[in-house]
Amino acid sequence: MTAGHHDHPLSPATQVVALGRPGRDPGAPLNVSPTFTSTYIADGPVNYARGGNPTWTALEEAVGALEGGDALAFASGMAAVSAVLSLVPAGGTVLAPFAAYNGVVVALTEAAEAGRLTVRWIDVTDDEGVRAALPGADLLWLESPTNPLLDVADLDGLVRAAHEAGALAAVDNTFATPLLQQPLRSGAEVVVHSATKYLSGHSDVILGLTVTRPDLTQVQARLARHRQLGGGIAGPMEAWLVLRGLRTLSVRLERACANAAELASRLGGHERVTRVRYPGFGAIVSIEVSGGAKGAEQVATSTRLWSHSTSLGGVESQLERRRRQPGEPESTPVDLLRLSVGVEDVEDLWRDLDRALRS
Ligand SMILES: *Cc1c(COP(=O)(O)O)cnc(C)c1O
Repeated sequence: MTAGHHDHPLSPATQVVALGRPGRDPGAPLNVSPTFTSTYIADGPVNYARGGNPTWTALEEAVGALEGGDALAFASGMAAVSAVLSLVPAGGTVLAPFAAYNGVVVALTEAAEAGRLTVRWIDVTDDEGVRAALPGADLLWLESPTNPLLDVADLDGLVRAAHEAGALAAVDNTFATPLLQQPLRSGAEVVVHSATKYLSGHSDVILGLTVTRPDLTQVQARLARHRQLGGGIAGPMEAWLVLRGLRTLSVRLERACANAAELASRLGGHERVTRVRYPGFGAIVSIEVSGGAKGAEQVATSTRLWSHSTSLGGVESQLERRRRQPGEPESTPVDLLRLSVGVEDVEDLWRDLDRALRS
């Protein structure tokens, strides 16, 4: 796989288009195809398709370059999370945001209840608190902006603190995407993505990725081993869909972020909205509305254009009252609506939201 030779390093907006393509041999196709096979003719680099697939390789080349590391595709974001958590020794200690992605919070809580890990919950905006909790930790798990409170962490400072304490640092970069933030450049050992969200961008596929700092070949080998033996492998069709979606990540994100900034500003002046959480970048905005849980539920079920559905990062705008999810931490206000702003016309989005808020 190569996009040919380039005199200058390619900018991310070009990388999403140019990388992960077949070599430019005469007559070669422009795109990789989903390779549907369970096995390979003997004596090649890969023996059996749980160990490798050319469609994964193309996607991994593109995402690895965007993050500045070595990528591995997994069956889902949670499969990628599980692979990273497998780096923690039995009985080890993990620091994680109390308001991390719900699946991560539940997985860590259940691992702690089963006695496999100790978890210390942190507030990613409280640098001193994180530092105080670090001694003896094996892994600092970070998410920034957090879901759904949209707290922003000082990645450089916290990763440095983790290393000083002898802990690995992993960052879930799903919300920001590598176009807005590259945690490996802050020194983190590994980044995790739910490509289900922005990287694929069309709400039609579930897939995850890890990206490891390029000097950490042993960590990368352990994650690859976890994928092969844990069996959480991506389907070739799914990998192809994510690569196809990735081609437009830059333009999708540009529009979605502009829409989010505009809506955040208008929502700040809306009589029904009691609080707007918007970190100043990205395309997720969380709002709190008057009328409590019932009022928020009423808004979520009254929109016609915005879909009332969980998940985020698609071209379609979605909203959800997060506390309706079982296991959502109590730190999430009952009247909080998380808005995943899509790429539609911003005036149409505003009219629909404003009408639902007034209903
Ligand atoms: C969705 C999500 C995940 C889990 O990814 P799946 O692809 O659904 O398994 C992990 N982290 C964040 C921040 C997410 O939004």
